[in-house]
Amino acid sequence: MTASFATFGRGPWRGLESSGSCESSDGSGVYPLADLSTRHDFYLALDELFARLDAALPRHPGNPCGSCNLCCTAAGLSQHVVSDLELDYLAARVGSEKVEDFRRYAAREEGAAAVCPYYQGGCTVYAHRPYACRTFGHYREQRTVLPGVCVFRGHEREFAPEEYFALLPEARAIHQLKRDYLAMRAPGPVSAGGGHPAVNLAHLDATDPVDRAWMELFLGEYAAAEASACQGRTTAMQQMTLGLARSGQENWEGAREAFLRAVTLAPEAADLRYQLARAELELGAFQPAAQALDEAVRLNPQHAPALTYRGYLELAQGQMEAGIPWLLRSLEVDPSQSLARLRLGVALSRLGREDEARPHLERAAAEGVTAS
Ligand code: SF4
Ligand code: SF4
Repeated sequence: MTASFATFGRGPWRGLESSGSCESSDGSGVYPLADLSTRHDFYLALDELFARLDAALPRHPGNPCGSCNLCCTAAGLSQHVVSDLELDYLAARVGSEKVEDFRRYAAREEGAAAVCPYYQGGCTVYAHRPYACRTFGHYREQRTVLPGVCVFRGHEREFAPEEYFALLPEARAIHQLKRDYLAMRAPGPVSAGGGHPAVNLAHLDATDPVDRAWMELFLGEYAAAEASACQGRTTAMQQMTLGLARSGQENWEGAREAFLRAVTLAPEAADLRYQLARAELELGAFQPAAQALDEAVRLNPQHAPALTYRGYLELAQGQMEAGIPWLLRSLEVDPSQSLARLRLGVALSRLGREDEARPHLERAAAEGVTAS
């Protein structure tokens, strides 16, 4: 197994019992909280974190690294793990032109470049390179190897997967920062079913209450997830997690309370408005739900779940004409949404626009969704 810029799953998840209280604290986080209510705040926090990291990493006389580019190529490494925060940070600091290519390269997507797009005789984004690039060579997970020519070979510190957070400098801090940033991801296409951030379950920290809550959400253990989330430090992500746990238990009042608090903590986050709207609608509050969705779409015009839900909200109130543009916009972002397509077909049909309705109804039916 070659080395990778990966982080590693850290169980065990069982046997870490959550308390039943919901007193979130401000003491359990490891990155300085300061004011992290905007994406820009997170980028500043990452600047500071990288400065601390660079000061903590071992130094080698004469800076021998850089003589080869193997850790910047698909041939040298099995993968790079780069977070949404680090990608958005790169876009903010050096421009967005190469970010998507870099994301595809790091994920080793088919057809992606074989060499990092930021490599041109050296790293052209050195001051802003991701955490994994900074720690590579200094640390190596057990059962992986550094490239044969790497100057760090033989000098690196080997670690077991469960030692990752304790051993690597700033590992726990950047993990929390990356995770908490997910609640406020930058505007861009969000497909159906993507109304909350995709937390990477393989990279969770079992000792962190919010991470534990995500694992419990994944397992469908909503009461345990609520108890875990309650133990986390108060952030937009922690409140969102709490809201999702309460939604899973159909405690819509409690969910609304958590999402409202999350929105206050991260006013520019479209996902949080969308989740708030879902809770409002479950409580029969059409107007607040519509307001939350309008705000979600204003913050991210390509948020397909919010667009679809906004259209559905109109249809549910008998406003076929008003619902159609929302559904059309949503299908532009994500044409694979069979249910949105069915609703669009039904709305058109109710308005007597059968010729326009037919292709949508037929396609929805071909995809296995029909009006009951
Ligand atoms: S960002 Fe820089 S250090 Fe990281 S893989 Fe690309 S060129 Fe190499
Ligand atoms: S860290 Fe190792 S593999 Fe990467 S450029 Fe430096 S010497 Fe080469």
